[in-house]
Formats: sequence, C-alpha cells, structure tokens
Amino acid sequence: MKILLVDDVQMERIQLAIRLKQLGHTVEVADSGVRALELYPTFEPDLILLDISMPEMNGFEVSSKIREQYPEWVPIIFLSSHDEPTMVANAIEAGGDDYLVKPVDKIVLNSKLIAMQRIAQMRRELKQKSAQLAEANRELEQLAQEDGLTKVKNRRCIDNKLAEMIALHGRHRLSLSLILLDVDMFKPFNDNYGHTEGDECLIQLASLLKELFVRSGEVVGRYGGEEFVIILGHTDQEKAETDAERIKSALEGLAIPHDYSDVSGVVTVSQGVLTLVPTGKETISELYDRVDKQLYLAKQSGRNQYVSIVHNG
Ligand code: GH3
Ligand code: MG
Ligand code: MG
Repeated sequence: MKILLVDDVQMERIQLAIRLKQLGHTVEVADSGVRALELYPTFEPDLILLDISMPEMNGFEVSSKIREQYPEWVPIIFLSSHDEPTMVANAIEAGGDDYLVKPVDKIVLNSKLIAMQRIAQMRRELKQKSAQLAEANRELEQLAQEDGLTKVKNRRCIDNKLAEMIALHGRHRLSLSLILLDVDMFKPFNDNYGHTEGDECLIQLASLLKELFVRSGEVVGRYGGEEFVIILGHTDQEKAETDAERIKSALEGLAIPHDYSDVSGVVTVSQGVLTLVPTGKETISELYDRVDKQLYLAKQSGRNQYVSIVHNG
C-alpha cells in the first residue's frame, strides 16, 4: 500500500516509517498537517496514518479537511498516545476509520493495515460495479424504447409520447400533427425479393425518416409491420403537408427498386396526415383511427400520396 504517515515528532516518524517499509509498503512522510495536505493529491495514498497532537493543525483538522476536499474515500487511521474514549469518539467524528494507541504494536498495526486494504479493495469493486450497473440501465432504457429491426421508437414508446404531446399541446393551445405511413405494395416486394430484402427496405426507410425528422418535438416510430408514425410537435397543417411531401421526394431520391409495384418502379409510401389543436381530452386510439382513415383514402386514391385533414374534436 501507499501510506502517507503524518507525525510531527521525527523519532516516531522515522521508526514507524522503517517498520512500514519492512512490511512491504511504500511510505511518504509529512511532518505537519499542512505538509500532509500538500502531499495528499500528488502521492494519492491508499491509507493515511495520522498523528493527533501536532502544532498548528492537529490530526482532527487534517482529517476533516481531507474528507471535505476529496470525495474519494481513503482510510484514515489515527495514532495517539492518549486512549481516552472521548478522543476515540472525536477521531471517528473527524472522519477517521480506526484509532491506534502509541507505541503501536507491530502485529496489531499490520493486521489493521490488512483490514483497511480489504475494505478499500471492496469499495473499489463496488464503485466499479455501480458504474457498470448504471451503464447497463442506460442501455436497457434505450432498448425498451426501441424497435428491434429498425431502431426507431417502438409502438409503446410512441403511444406514451403521443399521450404526452396531446396533454402538452392541449395546455398551450398549440397545433400537433401526426403522419401515419404505409409502404405501398409491400407484399409483392416481400414475395418477389424475399423477406430479408423486405427487412432491409424497412431499415432503409426508417433511417431516412430519422434523418428527415431530427427537430426536438419530432418523433419517428414503428407503428407495426410496414407502417410508421411521425409525431410532429408544434406543427400546423401546412407544415405537416410540407413534411409529407419531403418524405415522398426523399423516398424517390432513395430509389429502392420495386419492379412489382403498380404505382412506381421504386418503393413508395401512402400517408395519412392529421392536424389538431388538442383539447387535451383526445385519446390516442381516436387519433390513430382518424389518421388511419386518411391513410386508407390515400391508398384508395392511387397510393404514393398523402391525404390530410384537420381534426376538430
Ligand atoms: P398496400 O399498398 O395496400 O399497403 O399493400 P401491401 O402489399 O403493402 O399490404 P399488405 O398489408 O397486404 O402487406 C403488408 C406486408 O408487409 C405483409 C407482411 O408480410 C409485410 N411485413 C410486415 N412486417 C414486416 C417485416 O417486419 N418484415 C418484412 N420483410 N415484411 C413485413
Ligand atoms: Mg400495412
Ligand atoms: Mg402496405
């Protein structure tokens, strides 16, 4: 262990330092509290052996200062020629972990050092484990919100988000828009190119949507199968229609070949667009039903287009 030994009496300091070195430890000595505080950050000790009665700054003050300034716990063992119970109590109060009466027995000292080393090691492991656990929790939280295939938000997350947005926009009387889109002629795509190619097509479509909608208040999610939802916070009908057009032309640009579509030579989507200033009482299923109807109309009108409506309660 790296031990910082603090004692103002030179004889005692030297004797103890020799003993500690014989036990295999690395020792740095300080002849005052001020010197100890100077050495502490550069030496980074695993343990501090701290004399109590010293001029200027006594051991209790040194200990309190170390505990105040450095949140990283390092064991402190007090050394004193006094063995009154109040002294022991004060030592613990000042942030000490143990108390040894001078002259210190060699075997007792070594045992105490081993015990402290054990605690310090356990603390390090605990800290490491807590950090790992926090990281795992973050990943888990992310995974719980994500659609496995396309990595956009999953249905549960989108539902929660939509409910939140209805309440928020209702309170502030703001426009909220919703786009529900469905891949055109996706069954023949799957049937002819295979399911793996179909999956790849959905992944590409999802990435495109994520690139298009990055503003805060814009959420892209997978509604199910080959249908995606985009929640557009603070968005009126005109802006929502522009967004629907952006999706249409971006998909043309992506140009995923689809030789088995009656609509186009590339993959296209049909979109339902819904805009409302929520009263706050709307249910998410009510809105999904309404936007789904617009999507159905877009399909009926020949696909590769959007149908937009304003929802008035
Ligand atoms: P429409 O233009 O009317 O939407 O026609 P469509 O062929 O797209 O509609 P339909 O609902 O008949 O077909 C949807 C297809 O989407 C059927 C299903 O196998 C496929 N599908 C749903 N989820 C997935 C998926 O995760 N991966 C793949 N590869 N296909 C999927
Ligand atoms: Mg569908
Ligand atoms: Mg479809």
